[in-house]
Amino acid sequence: MEVILINYQAEFIEKFKELVSIDSYSFQERELADFLKAELVANGLRVIEDNTGEKIGGNTGNIIAELPGNDKLPEIVLSAHLDRVSPADNIEPVISGEYLISKGETILAVDDLVGVVTIILLLNSLQENQNEHGKIKVIFTVAEEQGLQGSRYLDPKYYKEADFALVLDGGGDVGQIITDSPYRAAIKAEITGKAAHAGAEPEAGINAIKVASRAINNLQLGRIDAETTANIALIEGGKALNIVPEKAVFSGEVRSQNLTKLKNVLNNIEKVLNEAATYYNGQANLEIRRLYNGYHIEHNNEFLNNLKISAEKIGLSFKTSKSGGGSDANHFNENGLLAFNLGCGIEAAHTKNEKIKLKNIVLIADFVKEIIFQ
Ligand SMILES: [Zn+2]
Repeated sequence: MEVILINYQAEFIEKFKELVSIDSYSFQERELADFLKAELVANGLRVIEDNTGEKIGGNTGNIIAELPGNDKLPEIVLSAHLDRVSPADNIEPVISGEYLISKGETILAVDDLVGVVTIILLLNSLQENQNEHGKIKVIFTVAEEQGLQGSRYLDPKYYKEADFALVLDGGGDVGQIITDSPYRAAIKAEITGKAAHAGAEPEAGINAIKVASRAINNLQLGRIDAETTANIALIEGGKALNIVPEKAVFSGEVRSQNLTKLKNVLNNIEKVLNEAATYYNGQANLEIRRLYNGYHIEHNNEFLNNLKISAEKIGLSFKTSKSGGGSDANHFNENGLLAFNLGCGIEAAHTKNEKIKLKNIVLIADFVKEIIFQ
């Protein structure tokens, strides 16, 4: 059956194919960034690139661009990330029924090219109407897929005057807005036991893997409560079959919507680890790194309410949701910029089944336009 595309879908898919053919793994966004910088300049925006690339060991910084607008209207940040996860070599997007999918053994990279393409096409249509919208800042971040590193190093001076940000990087249908996202911390436990010959004198050793096992066994993992999760994800230790292992290391993460709960879980991990080390006469050290802060947007927020009005005006069903994951919106909110992560219809992100409904491609563009011209 032949699929008949409406004009905007065809335009989107053409631009999508062009951009997806440019490789853009995390820390290697250079080619895509240069391509987009030229597009932004062609659309009349002032463009700069920050020095985040150097700080995170990548070849590209965040791209910040500005389109002048009417001072009396809200200043809005439109944001998406440039990097994509693997496998993403030679992505071949094809239309299958009501979906855009990846034909080959790759992701589709609609996470987050749906955001990038929507923003670029929107800018094409904005040039003539500068009095009808406020100032628009476009922020394309790097290394989002690597723990939101691009937005972490982006200086808030670039966006501190904006009224709010629309981050175009969410799953869920268009009309869904993420108002809650968790705090996230990484943990790394290093256990030191004592090496000994496993056959000749095992009694002289302290088995670091046994310490790790006792600790992990005593930890509550998975879903701890409605807003808190914990995961032990990596483990290594030991050197050879005939040595009682002296070292073991395991790492993982904890997330919670609630900062007190996050701290409680981390404290408990430390307690359980120390108990296990003491039990076997070993030693343990726990390293904790806060990866990003969570946020909660009040449901009576004025701008959120405006988004609801915009959504309903174009027939979308408006819905707020809690996310178990982070996005660049976490860093924006932490740094004082009210940021909404918008559902863009991305499905099965980071898998070979990644896809998006053709309908959502149109709806997200309509929604963002409606917000800008409200
Ligand atoms: Zn993404």
